[in-house]
Amino acid sequence: MEMNWSKASLLAQAMGKIDETTRAVTPPIHVTSTFIRDPDNEYRSGNVYGRPDNETVREAESVLSMLEGASSTLVFGSGMSAATAVFLALKPGDHVVAPKVMYWALRNWLMNDAVAWGLNVDFVDMTDLDTVAAAIKPDITKLVWVETPSNPLWSVTDVAAVAAMAEAAGAKFAVDSTVATPILSQPLALGADIVMHSATKYLNGHSDVIAGALSTKRDDAFWGRIRRNRSMLGQILGPVEAFLLLRGMRTLDLRVRTQSASALTLAARFASHPRILDVLYPGLPSHPGHELAARQMSGGFGGMLSIRVRAGEEAAIRTAANVRLWKRATSLGGVESLLEHRASIEGQGSPCPTDLLRLSVGLESPDDLIVDLEGALDVNS
Ligand SMILES: *Cc1c(COP(=O)(O)O)cnc(C)c1O
Repeated sequence: MEMNWSKASLLAQAMGKIDETTRAVTPPIHVTSTFIRDPDNEYRSGNVYGRPDNETVREAESVLSMLEGASSTLVFGSGMSAATAVFLALKPGDHVVAPKVMYWALRNWLMNDAVAWGLNVDFVDMTDLDTVAAAIKPDITKLVWVETPSNPLWSVTDVAAVAAMAEAAGAKFAVDSTVATPILSQPLALGADIVMHSATKYLNGHSDVIAGALSTKRDDAFWGRIRRNRSMLGQILGPVEAFLLLRGMRTLDLRVRTQSASALTLAARFASHPRILDVLYPGLPSHPGHELAARQMSGGFGGMLSIRVRAGEEAAIRTAANVRLWKRATSLGGVESLLEHRASIEGQGSPCPTDLLRLSVGLESPDDLIVDLEGALDVNS
């Protein structure tokens, strides 16, 4: 396919690759674990063994490299395996700066396992650039990690500003862009070295695959360590999952734009609701990260928002118990709307307010979503 088509066109056709053997429009799923060696003992196909080599996996990676403007992408067996692969490419003793408010399982792994492995991790308020600047130590800090908008308060971090600080200090800079998606945000263009996605969420979009992805600006020595670790530790994505991801991504543009528009409609409606104390959504002018989000995102503010129930934690849990169209479940980014009492899953040490419900807006009618949630709020608070 000609490469001057828009990203939306390339995405809809998953790069438009046609299977040369059968002329199939939809790519086959390559399930083989091994490949024929040529009679003269070479491997001319470039494929040796299924752990490092799988064409279905590579097709999914090429779509992501196109979307992110990356020189290389690696998909993984989960978002967590993608994220931890970045930290495990460092060396014991290295210093890392990470956000105070971030995806809870990764914060938990950094606080416990990564520290036990030997990393020195400082957790800082990434919305306060002075604090970030003070935490990054030239030639000592090896990695700065940011998530924006970040779980579950949807605080926004200035990617370009942190990129400049990390570069000046000689540190790598990685962004978890799961919630922003490649449709609304381009961290590599803003100066990040690596962008990470839980592909379980918006990229796949149908709540039927666990997957992760890393895309890099430069295919350098650090990236080589990540690639080698993926192959050696086998943190790979299976071919069937890679196919499902490839299929899901074809509608990514459409889904994310619709979900963002619906999330804005809901946020605006709930902002003045008497039973709601606060609505956290970067698309609302009242959100502290609104202007920054408007600058570094385009096409919408994402499909994630949180509400704080005025009557408190028990009322929030009862509200979640009484929705009918919304599904009461963790995770996000699927076609079905999910709602979750976030403090219950994050547990001890979480910065999440106990009256908070996290909403992942799907593709249902926004009117139906509003009626259902307002009904549940009325019964229970
Ligand atoms: C879900 C999620 C992850 C972890 O991804 P998995 O695919 O569940 O391993 C990391 N970061 C963010 C922002 C997420 O939402």
